[in-house]
Amino acid sequence: MQTLGLCDDARFVADVTAETSTDSGVVVSINPATGLPIAGVTLDDEASYEKTLARSREAFLRWRKVPAPQRGLVVRAMGEELRRFKNPLGTLVSLEVGKILSEGLGEVQETIDIADFAVGLSRQQYGLTMPSERPEHAMKEQWLPLGPIGIITAFNFPNAVWGWNAMLAAVCGDTSVWKPSLLAPLTALASNRIADRVATEMGHPDVFSLVIGTDALIGERMIADRRLPLISATGSCRMGRYVGSVVAGRLGRCLLELGGNNAVIIEPDADLDLAAKSTVFGSVGTCGQRCTTTRRLIVHESIADEFVAKLVGPYQSVKIGDPVQAGVLVGPLINSAAVDGFVSAVAQAREQGGEVVTGGNVAEIDGGKGYFVEPTIVRVPASNTLAIAMSETFAPILYVFTYKTLDEAIAMNNAVDQGLSSAIFTSSVRSAERFLSPSGTGSDCGLAYVNCGTSGAEIGGAFGGEKDTGGGRESGSDAWKAYMRRQTSTTNFGTQFNLAQGIRFE
Ligand code: NAD
Repeated sequence: MQTLGLCDDARFVADVTAETSTDSGVVVSINPATGLPIAGVTLDDEASYEKTLARSREAFLRWRKVPAPQRGLVVRAMGEELRRFKNPLGTLVSLEVGKILSEGLGEVQETIDIADFAVGLSRQQYGLTMPSERPEHAMKEQWLPLGPIGIITAFNFPNAVWGWNAMLAAVCGDTSVWKPSLLAPLTALASNRIADRVATEMGHPDVFSLVIGTDALIGERMIADRRLPLISATGSCRMGRYVGSVVAGRLGRCLLELGGNNAVIIEPDADLDLAAKSTVFGSVGTCGQRCTTTRRLIVHESIADEFVAKLVGPYQSVKIGDPVQAGVLVGPLINSAAVDGFVSAVAQAREQGGEVVTGGNVAEIDGGKGYFVEPTIVRVPASNTLAIAMSETFAPILYVFTYKTLDEAIAMNNAVDQGLSSAIFTSSVRSAERFLSPSGTGSDCGLAYVNCGTSGAEIGGAFGGEKDTGGGRESGSDAWKAYMRRQTSTTNFGTQFNLAQGIRFE
């Protein structure tokens, strides 16, 4: 059993089988490329959850008093330690969730990038001053630490989504309690181990905490817990709708990062080679398991055949296999349920009149134990409607629609419930700006790209989506404000009693 030097934790259980269930108090991490267990992790129960929450709360009371730039020094050390562990941690991501190694490493790089960004932010939590309408009064807004925050993450970004939240929260003066997906507990254990060790060595234990447990026992407890003023939850729209309602019921704050159903529009004047490369990465990369994966292609009818033909070659030649092997570009789906979801979506697409242009099958790789499928392109029927394409299937299926006018294409882009990512390929400034129109009549998504694909965001901008994607913003820009509370203060530095709005009370 290889522990990669990262999981030397009492919770790490080496003696497990793929059949070990959570009823035994252990969750087993399965390598989706082989179907074999990697290791198990003991689950938290009510008592250990309570202990973790109490310690996180106590740590918050200390941590918020540490000046923000000094909090930044801790996060800077964390970034350095993550650089040191980038290779083993990135490899663990690949082993546990099936991303190709370059993407596993890229995910850890994203956490390093956000740590760097957070260090800068530790000196830039700017408030505002504004003129008071009353004489000899001063008004300002300041940003204050919020409390221990709860972080719930999806399986497909088992390190970076935690990093986006935890690094910003830390420089904002918050402690964090992280509940990862039970499909990726080892990456969580290793990531939190690094963060907690660095902070503890610098005199700040329990700033970064981890609870690993079932949704019924730990997830439910966490979202209902009034000691967590903010729940940042990443996952499916179904999960977000429920978690959002529970947190709203206690008047807590939610930051929701939910599912997407992202489209790319290809205009006739586009650079088709560039558009094809971006579309292939966006649709087959991470085996279609990114929230920003390209799921719908909206291509001008005059170039549809030519453009689809450009995709078919790469789709059929892309190497599928063990994601840690050199040359492999498409790894497995996460588990057998995801394979069932793929098979069901392809069957529904056919029943609804779609034509499978390439792919459509489960792929047998190295003896058939892993959860592999073929990257798939489906052309929608002449009616230009396909019900299955309107929802997110977390697998590499690309549905091809055609259009006549750009207005029609934008309406199709916006016709789904989710509003995460979108893209247009065009050489025309007019078309590009129409897609980004400041009047809000272009793409209705949180992310809108021109001549770049839907997937592969940088950390510098605020990341998130509208409509059923949940409306949250994480990562760059001013997303840090979600992790703080805002206080508007007014000081009367004179001697007169003055009320706003000219009210007299004498
Ligand atoms: P999921 O909804 O099954 O699970 C996400 C997380 O929610 C897990 O940690 C899960 O344990 C937790 N959860 C579920 N029910 C809960 C409950 N009742 N109480 C507390 N926690 C609960 O999602 P998944 O399959 O892990 O991830 C795939 C989904 O995530 C896709 O829809 C994808 O688009 C979305 N996603 C969105 C973003 C984004 O930034 N918008 C990023 C990554 C993934």
